Amino acid sequence: MKKSRNTIAGHAKIRKSEWCAYCGSALARHEVHVDHFLPVCYSDEAYNQVNLLPSCQECNQIKSSIMFTDIYDARLYIQMAKEGRKDEYWANIRAHKKQKTNLSSSQK
Ligand SMILES: [Zn+2]
Repeated sequence: MKKSRNTIAGHAKIRKSEWCAYCGSALARHEVHVDHFLPVCYSDEAYNQVNLLPSCQECNQIKSSIMFTDIYDARLYIQMAKEGRKDEYWANIRAHKKQKTNLSSSQK
């Protein structure tokens, strides 16, 4: 998908942000990275203005192209990754999914 006017306007708007949407740190104008919350590799919808979030370089790199269901998950993951607890995060996710699967199968 080509960058639409909407996207360019969206980027300009995001670049005026003053803090990172993930860790909340203050950002100088040149430090603002435009993060696609839904990674662009998953859908063209990712280019939509509503999918753009301001982030610092570190959070942007950590989040990379991981798909999160909501921003709280992304924030938690980034925070844990910064503390060197990435593995713990994924272990929790797996445990949670397992639990959900068990619940739904027991309801049948
Ligand atoms: Zn950040």
